[in-house]
Amino acid sequence: MSNMLKNNMKILLVDDEPFVHKLLARQLANLGFNDVISCERATDALALMESGGGAFGLIFCDLQMPEMDGVEFVRQLVRIQYTGGLVLVSGEDGRILQTAEKLSRAHQLDVLGALHKPVSPEQLRQVLSNHSPREGMTSHAARKIYASDELWRAITGGKLVNYYQPKVDLASGMVSGVETLVRWQHPQDGLVLPDQFIATAEEHGHIDELTRVVLANALRQARIWLDAGLSLHVAVNVSMDNLDSLEFPDFVARAAAKAGVPPSCLVLEVTESRLMKNPLASLDILARLRLKHIGLSIDDFGTGHSSLSQLRDIPFDELKVDRSFVHGASRDPSLRAIFEASLGMARKLDMKTVAEGVEDQEDWDFLRAAGCDTAQGYFIAKPMRAEDIGRWFEAWAERRPDLVQVKA
Ligand code: C2E
Ligand code: CA
Ligand code: CA
Repeated sequence: MSNMLKNNMKILLVDDEPFVHKLLARQLANLGFNDVISCERATDALALMESGGGAFGLIFCDLQMPEMDGVEFVRQLVRIQYTGGLVLVSGEDGRILQTAEKLSRAHQLDVLGALHKPVSPEQLRQVLSNHSPREGMTSHAARKIYASDELWRAITGGKLVNYYQPKVDLASGMVSGVETLVRWQHPQDGLVLPDQFIATAEEHGHIDELTRVVLANALRQARIWLDAGLSLHVAVNVSMDNLDSLEFPDFVARAAAKAGVPPSCLVLEVTESRLMKNPLASLDILARLRLKHIGLSIDDFGTGHSSLSQLRDIPFDELKVDRSFVHGASRDPSLRAIFEASLGMARKLDMKTVAEGVEDQEDWDFLRAAGCDTAQGYFIAKPMRAEDIGRWFEAWAERRPDLVQVKA
């Protein structure tokens, strides 16, 4: 069990059915969680929290409740700045549960999972143990917004470090490349994840410099790997804001040349995180990057950030299906439908498909059977420092034979 879910943590159950309280409380007790409080009405739960009646580490919330339903309760949790974990519970069909889960995550709540009623002890155990605090974050309070000048000093002062997460070919199990994921080595807060500073960098015009630094470090590392005989595609995330400057393709090509890395070793992952300010310029830039043989990948596919018209207009060579459609797709018909549709579309457009968020053997087996090209996710490797890649390669070589065998 993760170190965040301490057994002495206070847990709140919000459900209008008393027998559900009894059942869940007993199951939680069996897992060692004894400090459990129940409310039959969401309004009571809110009143309790607002009066300071308990710093809850975890809330189980039913979706169907008279008076205030679960969705509204979630909105209220955001309003009172609840920072603990949330588990959604529902007797309705899975899609409603999924929608509510998405909504809660969009509100930046820490959703551990969604459970169907009746909740089995095994489901409960899984949702609690699946949850591990994101690396570098010691508690929810660690999530804070940084001032733009502090961020600027970090970017220009060499405080950004690149982590790398391997991508492997599903058919052969061979490592095809790595994705560069930036972190900020903060003097007080430790390792800060990009979700906590990329948006600030974009809003304050620091993203070009950030990309420049990340790219230069990634290219330097790519050269070191090439010298060591490792031919890896190195992917770097770029923001749509980077695609505002017509100089960008030449700048990238020059950076690659300077590092001695063939442009075809480099992949740029593009998410439409904000509306394209200047669609024509972005098209121009993306087309010229392709002409320079730099790989282009469309990131977070399916989340609405990337649109179908981009696929039509831009010669992307890789499509990354967002992890929200990958993990668990084998068990969930709606996820599976979206995943398979994305895969089919990518094939017709002659693009490779990368599945991100591959978290367990089930995901892996499903993707192999579906004919997806490449996999990335915690099941294969977490993002790591460049110096740890060699050791991971050795461990992977041991695991690989079992993972690529044809299942009887
Ligand atoms: P992304 O491009 O979608 O990157 C994948 C994120 O999913 C990474 O989070 C990675 O650590 C995480 N991840 C990988 N495997 C799994 C898995 O199996 N399960 C789960 N639940 N998560 C997994 P990270 O490193 O926190 O990065 C978050 C986002 O920040 C990235 O999402 C990317 O959009 C952005 N980002 C990272 N580095 C840069 C950068 O240099 N420039 C820009 N513009 N954005 C960056
Ligand atoms: Ca990415
Ligand atoms: Ca993604």
